[in-house]
Amino acid sequence: MALPRGAALLLAALLLAACSSGNPRYDASRAHHRPDGFVNSDPTLSIGTFPWYEILVRRLRGDFKPTQPPEGGYEAFARAWRTPVDHDRLSQPGTAPQITWLGHASMLLQVAGQNILIDPQFSDHAGPLPWLSAARRVPPPLTAEGLPRIDLVLISHNHYDHLDAATIDALTAAGQRPRYLVPLGVGAWFAERGIGAVTEMDWWDALDIGPLRIHFTPAQHWSKRSPFDTNATLWGGFALEWRRPGPTWRFLYTGDTGYSADFREIRRRLGPVDYLAVPVGAYLPRDFMRPQHTNPDDAVQIALDVDAKEGIGVHWGTFELTQEPFDAPPRDLAAALQARGQPDERLSVFRHGETRVIGPDGQPRPKGSPLGGEK
Ligand code: ZN
Ligand code: ZN
Repeated sequence: MALPRGAALLLAALLLAACSSGNPRYDASRAHHRPDGFVNSDPTLSIGTFPWYEILVRRLRGDFKPTQPPEGGYEAFARAWRTPVDHDRLSQPGTAPQITWLGHASMLLQVAGQNILIDPQFSDHAGPLPWLSAARRVPPPLTAEGLPRIDLVLISHNHYDHLDAATIDALTAAGQRPRYLVPLGVGAWFAERGIGAVTEMDWWDALDIGPLRIHFTPAQHWSKRSPFDTNATLWGGFALEWRRPGPTWRFLYTGDTGYSADFREIRRRLGPVDYLAVPVGAYLPRDFMRPQHTNPDDAVQIALDVDAKEGIGVHWGTFELTQEPFDAPPRDLAAALQARGQPDERLSVFRHGETRVIGPDGQPRPKGSPLGGEK
């Protein structure tokens, strides 16, 4: 049977795309697209293209291990920075947005009746092979079975501490059937696992889910799952707008990022942020980490850049990824806030498993009420 000419051309194009190592999402009109992958907003900043021998030397000399254990040791740290999950609160959230820190960059955001899981990673290591991976030092506060119904999963990029096969498989095995929002190019990973409810997003793409508008936002980072796919798929963060009775409420999770002009641009395009989630860990050694990971001082600057009223510091205290001791990020964050005259609440750190209300409730207030519906 002869294929119609159009179908034959399409088939040939698809085969070519599948066989080449090129970027099937390449759009020459987008500045961060390249025929073989993606670059940062500052295209001269090539992150992730380190020669293998540099990584080896750094690994051997201990660049990717804390220089010392936290004060009192890891067990005391885990006891101090962990709290039992309040499952009733998770299964019956109020009408105000709430967030639960699940360790590292994993968060459960509950807003507008949607249960949104962000970068879930519940495994005992982060990496392709246990011996070549960052070890977990604080147990996950819950498992996939312990989660409420999940409507959406947001994946910021394909690094193993943000996209974990065992965790995604455990979600599926627990009967969860969420919709996944992922960066351009990451959809194929889900298709290989038979997961079809996946939407790939480019920077500044937005989609509406009920009263929520979700934007994929730029970040200064990189991607890699194997020796051959450096920066082949996109990375970024998510901005959520909740169009509630009263002023729109905005949440921003930056994703992994170095400090960059991207955040002033996010503020310019989308408006001020009510609640920010930003990495405050994995920042030493600075010469290596600065372009790709914010330190607490950079995180405070991002909070100022996006006019964040409040926020949570994430990406710390869970996996052994980098040189700073596990208990350094909260100390350095407190110092960074103080140095800029900012109150502690502007960026706080949670205990693993802790839930906090982070926004206004969803009820319209009567006009003239002393609390006021508008602010
Ligand atoms: Zn990363
Ligand atoms: Zn990370």
